[in-house]
Amino acid sequence: MGGLAVADVVAEARRVLGEMLLILAHHYQRDEIVDVADFRGDSLELSRRAAASAARWIVFCGVHFMAETAAVLAREGQRVLIPREDAGCFLAHTIDYPSLVELWRALSGIMDPDREVLPVAYVNTTADVKAFVGEKGGACCTSSSAEAVLRWAFSQRPRVLFVPDQYLGRNTARRLGIPDDDIAVWDPRFPDLDRERFARARLILWRGTCNVHVRFLPEDVERVRRERPGVRVVVHPECRPEVVELADEVGSTSYIIRTVSASPPGSAWAVGTEERLVARLNKENPDKEVFSLAEVPPFCSYMSLTRPGDLAAILEGLLRGEERNVVEVPPEIRDPARAALERMLEITSA
Ligand code: SF4
Repeated sequence: MGGLAVADVVAEARRVLGEMLLILAHHYQRDEIVDVADFRGDSLELSRRAAASAARWIVFCGVHFMAETAAVLAREGQRVLIPREDAGCFLAHTIDYPSLVELWRALSGIMDPDREVLPVAYVNTTADVKAFVGEKGGACCTSSSAEAVLRWAFSQRPRVLFVPDQYLGRNTARRLGIPDDDIAVWDPRFPDLDRERFARARLILWRGTCNVHVRFLPEDVERVRRERPGVRVVVHPECRPEVVELADEVGSTSYIIRTVSASPPGSAWAVGTEERLVARLNKENPDKEVFSLAEVPPFCSYMSLTRPGDLAAILEGLLRGEERNVVEVPPEIRDPARAALERMLEITSA
């Protein structure tokens, strides 16, 4: 089938495989991928789609932890395939299982973490990190569910460990009214605890950030307000707290899309999130001005790895009866990771 456009390969795969095939695409994917997917969404929406789907093959156009999450939630017989196995995530790479175990051991010197601390993992983590959290009775969260999950976590135990995005953790803590003084940040590069600080902390944050969202600065908000009077600023909660404080609106990718799309014609929006999403919002809202909050708009290089040819190669493989780039999670990791994800889905559907 060499030489066919990806849309033709997708059409052929749909004709032959029918409902056995589901193609999911994250909002930060290239337009050519998003245009041919069955669904586009943020990580929570895509996790839900994957969990509810009866398809045999879920082709996940996104980054690896997302496909892994779908594999953890998959039913018996379902297979998750990722067009680019090397599509990682800067944020997910800031944490791994051994360094989490090391933190837990360090905390044991000043408290009883198994009784006092409930871990919460942002979905931007590998399955073994989610498994650690699941084993300890904790839950996962996405940017849209962080507030609900943190509130639930504090109803279970006096302290919460939130990994790995320190800014999402701090921004959510501020919404819950937790003062900065009650927060301690664990830096895995300098694993010596400030015992006094950690002993009184209600919230412990991992020192991870997303390379894309960290680029937005308070100066950007000041500049766009100066240059475009009347502009509204909407940012993702992975942005620095100083940026979130200055913004008019803060929310997940889906919240940003809903907010901009529902605004009146003639509105102007400076958006603090991944550039591919901002460019698409601009295209889909011709009656509004939509532009990046940053002068040099940051994009996610991992999300950009997936090109139409990569998706076509996966589908052509399926048409030949070959499963390529299958994402598999061994049962000893899958089961506790699933428990953490299912807790999130329960909390957010309650
Ligand atoms: S935008 Fe940030 S958090 Fe999202 S996949 Fe890229 S690096 Fe990871």
